[in-house]
Amino acid sequence: MIDSHCHLDPQYFGADRAEVLARARAAGVEAFVCVGVGPDLEAPRQAIALAAAEPDVFATVGVHPHDVAKMREGDWSELEELARRPRVVGIGETGLDYYYNHSPAELQQAAYRRFVELARAVRLAVVSHVRDAHAEAAAILREAQAGAGVIHCFSGGVAEARTYLDLGQYLSFSGILTFKNAGTLREAAAFAPLDRILIETDAPYLAPVPHRGQKNEPAYITETLAALAALRGLPAAEVDAATSANTRRLFGLPETAGSADTR
Ligand SMILES: [Zn+2]
Repeated sequence: MIDSHCHLDPQYFGADRAEVLARARAAGVEAFVCVGVGPDLEAPRQAIALAAAEPDVFATVGVHPHDVAKMREGDWSELEELARRPRVVGIGETGLDYYYNHSPAELQQAAYRRFVELARAVRLAVVSHVRDAHAEAAAILREAQAGAGVIHCFSGGVAEARTYLDLGQYLSFSGILTFKNAGTLREAAAFAPLDRILIETDAPYLAPVPHRGQKNEPAYITETLAALAALRGLPAAEVDAATSANTRRLFGLPETAGSADTR
């Protein structure tokens, strides 16, 4: 399995990080996409440093939509420089969050557009975070002519899934799939083509059942894989092979990344 979206920054995983990575590898996680976003550019730098130190960790760089109001113009040139570093495989997470609206909507839209353009310029996948703003996000992806990317922690239904798929985006499913009240999401997860779906933990957030409420960690991705396989009526190994291949293709991960052993 590949955890296509996790936050492994020291603020979440400090002294326990080595153990957390070891537990995930033991559970069959072959690679981690460590999403480097924070209120400033410290998180992207830390994600890059971790990716340089661990052969199975890759980094993305961005600023979360919550925090774009704090960005300074100079951050953009630095982000572009960081995006060109080795082992950086994506831009984000970026996007729109109209549920929390921690940054004004206009600023979120302007930054999202600019991140999509940056991703195109550096030829990296764009990692989108969208909450309560599917129509607006789809419009930006369309207008800014986004390349391939992923709607991380996808939370919509079949209609939204179809729109993103038509825009060349992959859909990533998280532990939310294991929650009781996720019926609409499960329909979308059953509907989406097998070659366009990814799995993620979004650790340390969104721990799947039966770990719900605890700090999430990449080892728990087994629960999301099992839920996705069950609702599609396929063996877990088949969904594992497909989602891993999709993640490698989208982010351009080397075939040799991580250990070769499977569960
Ligand atoms: Zn995230």
